[in-house]
Amino acid sequence: MPDVIKEYFRPGSLPHMWCPGCGTGIVLQSFLRAIHHLGYRRDDVAVVGGIGCSARAVSYIDFNTVHTTHGRALAFATGIKLAKPDLQVFVIMGDGDAAAIGGNHLIHSARRNIDLNVLVINNSVYGMTGGQCSPLTPTGSRTATSPYGSLERQLNIVNLVAAAGGTFVARSTAYHAKLTGELIEQGVANKGFSFIEVISQCPTGFGRKNGPSDPAAMLQWQKDKAVMAEKYGKLPEEEAKGKFPIGVLFRDEAPDYTDIYLGMSSRAGRGKESGGKDND
Ligand code: SF4
Ligand code: MG
Repeated sequence: MPDVIKEYFRPGSLPHMWCPGCGTGIVLQSFLRAIHHLGYRRDDVAVVGGIGCSARAVSYIDFNTVHTTHGRALAFATGIKLAKPDLQVFVIMGDGDAAAIGGNHLIHSARRNIDLNVLVINNSVYGMTGGQCSPLTPTGSRTATSPYGSLERQLNIVNLVAAAGGTFVARSTAYHAKLTGELIEQGVANKGFSFIEVISQCPTGFGRKNGPSDPAAMLQWQKDKAVMAEKYGKLPEEEAKGKFPIGVLFRDEAPDYTDIYLGMSSRAGRGKESGGKDND
């Protein structure tokens, strides 16, 4: 592990719990490189995780971190951002955590356009809890709860976040580690809800049941199927089949909820001091 990355780990937190070949560590390294490149001090940053293999990352890294309850990372992050608006607040979740139990929080955090930086590491299953089907499991895939193949349609989480009001929406893969870091930096520059889906490999919970289970082959799949958004948009329908776009997928401008909230808070404070006369 490069020294620059090592210095962000809590002393004594390693070895980690991830299986050999898991993509989560690659994504975490992209995240740490981006933080390093942005030049933030540890105290400038808060990282919030829910429950799952991806969210577990917050236990290992040495920032202001909170390992919260399943699906509720965004609710905790919202509270942190409103109480400490100067902090750069990141949220790391898995696909089950973000899209199922935390789906409602995701929709409404995007709708508010609150200034959070969200990374969803999408490995197509609930990894930590035993490889169950998640809303992002591709239709037909075998999981612990869909032994004959998932019958459900797969949720397009980037479209959901864009439709709900997120102002920076992007996608990468574990293979595209450099791109992931660049997108994190662009997301930080967006003052509003920034969302990045990173497609990753879970050889244990997904690969073994669906193949390939070899992590290198799973990374190769990501490389082969991902196409930069500009190029993807120009592909003939036949060629686009089975592929997916990566890069920045959607941008918008909207007021950041943190600013709106702080404005209201200061008006309410002035109102109290003037016995309500200044409370316009
Ligand atoms: Fe990674 Fe899957 Fe193992 Fe979890 S179960 S650590 S996601 S490979
Ligand atoms: Mg998952």
